[in-house]
Amino acid sequence: PIIFGIETSCDETAVAILKGKDQLLSNLVNSQIDVHKVFGGVVPEVAARKHVEVLYKLSLKAFEEAQITPNDIDAVSVSFGPGLIGALLIGVSFAKGMSLSLGKPLIGVNHLMGHIYANFLDFPNLKPPFVTLLVSGGHTAILLVKDYLDFEIIGETRDDAAGEAFDKVARILDLGYPGGPVIDEISKKAQKLYDFPRPLYDKEYDFSFSGLKTSVLYFVRDYPQAKKEDIAASFQEAIIDTLVHKVTKFAIKENIKDIVIAGGVAANSLLREKLNAFKDKLNIYYPRQSLCTDNAAMICRAGYEKYVRNMFDTLELDVVPNLGLSKI
Ligand code: ATP
Ligand code: MG
Ligand code: FE
Repeated sequence: PIIFGIETSCDETAVAILKGKDQLLSNLVNSQIDVHKVFGGVVPEVAARKHVEVLYKLSLKAFEEAQITPNDIDAVSVSFGPGLIGALLIGVSFAKGMSLSLGKPLIGVNHLMGHIYANFLDFPNLKPPFVTLLVSGGHTAILLVKDYLDFEIIGETRDDAAGEAFDKVARILDLGYPGGPVIDEISKKAQKLYDFPRPLYDKEYDFSFSGLKTSVLYFVRDYPQAKKEDIAASFQEAIIDTLVHKVTKFAIKENIKDIVIAGGVAANSLLREKLNAFKDKLNIYYPRQSLCTDNAAMICRAGYEKYVRNMFDTLELDVVPNLGLSKI
């Protein structure tokens, strides 16, 4: 099948066209980062307006690039949650309009599943069961993916998500938005001088990162002479060490060889470096950088699994801003 995918859950307007399992005919992302940067974070109203402005033109461009017409597609898949309500509504309404006018089935996709499925685009031979570390702007979890549509949550964050912690610490250090890429970059030339807490390190598989963020805040207040880069690098060490420790511990305990990393923080270079140290025991998978952060190719790929199982939605499909991981 040829699947048209739409992603508008946050601050990226994205569309993609996927043929079969892994042939991307087009994959376009219009990031709003510059629009939100001046506010130091995403402004929901502004995000929704920007999606309206961009989505139609971006879709035309995707068809042009793929050299097909809208009638050639077999289904429209769209993120229906989690995300910002106004932003999600733009994508879902647009998808419904396409579905209705073209007479093609509509498929609602859980955005978080999309992040995981991004890996299937780059690793066509990857198959469940595998362990997933989902680390995005709003979510952090270890999952056991038993089958394509069968996930078990092993551990989740009790407060801040990993990406959120990067963004908040960057804000404390006045490094701009989004924080992850900046902290990653400046840490390369810095020293990990400071020992920040690693909450719940050896207990269960849940995470808690709000205390870590707070201790960075106090540290900055108490040691104004400390270099920003060194604080950033020390923070990064603490959070990445915690993520790597837990996910590898679980995989080794369960004797599962494949670990799949998903979400924006999967782009982090220290995370990759630390996981690579397990190379002889475990197979580590990450999507290419552009498929780690929000995109519509991953929405097409998740939509594909639903398409082949005839799991379609009606025009009643509603957005679910707080959609969890358990809802496929
Ligand atoms: P969710 O998917 O949970 O709804 P989201 O879509 O906003 O949230 P993503 O697009 O998956 O999140 O990821 C964005 C997050 O990834 C941001 O918090 C950003 O700081 C972080 N990030 C991006 N690149 C890096 C990096 N190199 N190192 C660490 N974090 C990064
Ligand atoms: Mg984003
Ligand atoms: Fe996301």
